Amino acid sequence: MLLSVKDLYVKYGNIEALHGISFHVDEGEIVTLIGSNGAGKSTTLHSIMRLPPPEAPRVTSGDIAFRGESILGMAPHTVVSTLHMALVPEGRHIFGNLTVMENLTLATYARKDAHGAQRDLERVFELFPRLAERRRQRSESLSGGEQQMLAVGRALMSGCNFILLDEPSMGLAPLLMYDMFRTLKRLNQDGMTILLVEQNARLALQFAHRGYVIDTGEIVAEGTGLELLDNPEVKKAYLGG
Ligand code: ATP
Repeated sequence: MLLSVKDLYVKYGNIEALHGISFHVDEGEIVTLIGSNGAGKSTTLHSIMRLPPPEAPRVTSGDIAFRGESILGMAPHTVVSTLHMALVPEGRHIFGNLTVMENLTLATYARKDAHGAQRDLERVFELFPRLAERRRQRSESLSGGEQQMLAVGRALMSGCNFILLDEPSMGLAPLLMYDMFRTLKRLNQDGMTILLVEQNARLALQFAHRGYVIDTGEIVAEGTGLELLDNPEVKKAYLGG
C-alpha cells in the first residue's frame, strides 16, 4: 500500500470537515474521490499534502501513512522532495507574470539531480507540445487548457511519481478535458500513481481503477470504477440517474 488514510478527522477552526474517512492507494493505481460541492475532497488532498496555513486543515485524529509510515508530522516540502508526491491544486495557481519556462523551472528548486530535471522537462514538452511552443510566453496569457497543462507540467517537474490532482477538468471544454485525461492515462501507464479528485464523476470513474464517494465528510461508497458506475445510489446521486 503506497498511501493509506485511516479514520481521519479534520477540522477548520471548530468546524469538522472530515468525519473519519479511510481509503488507500496502491502503487501504480489511479484512484478517484468523487462527491458534490463541499463534500471534503479538496480537504482530503490538502491534509495529505500538509498544506501550510491559512488553507491548513487540522487533523484531529486518525493517520495518513506513506509506505506504512505516518507522515502527519512531515513538512509540505519534505512530502514533495522525499516522498515524490506532488499536488496539482484546484484553480491551477500558476505564476501568471512568469513565463511557461520560468514556472516549470521554479518547480525544480528542491531537486538535486539536474539530469533528472532535464529529462522531466523533455517529458513535459513531449506530453504537452503546446507548452514547448509557448515556453517564452507569459503564463497569464495562456488559454485555460494550456494553464492546466502547465499546472500538471509543473508538478511533473518536481520529479514526482505520485500525483494528486484537484479537479483537473474544471473549466475545460470537453475535447480538452478528454485530451487531459488521455495524457494522465499515458503517465499512469508509464508508472505514475494518481489520486484524482473530480466533480465530473462519470469521467473520473471511467478513468480510474478504483473510486470512493465522499458525502459531507464521510466515505459512503467504494469500488472499482465500473462497480461505482453501475451502483444505483451513485447513478442516482452523481451520474444524473
Ligand atoms: P468542491 O468540489 O466544491 O471544491 P470539496 O469536496 O473539495 O468541494 P472541500 O473544499 O474539501 O470540499 O470543503 C469541505 C468543507 O470544509 C466545506 O464545508 C468547506 O466549506 C469547508 N472548508 C474548506 N476549506 C476551508 C477553509 N480554508 N476554512 C474553513 N472551512 C473550509
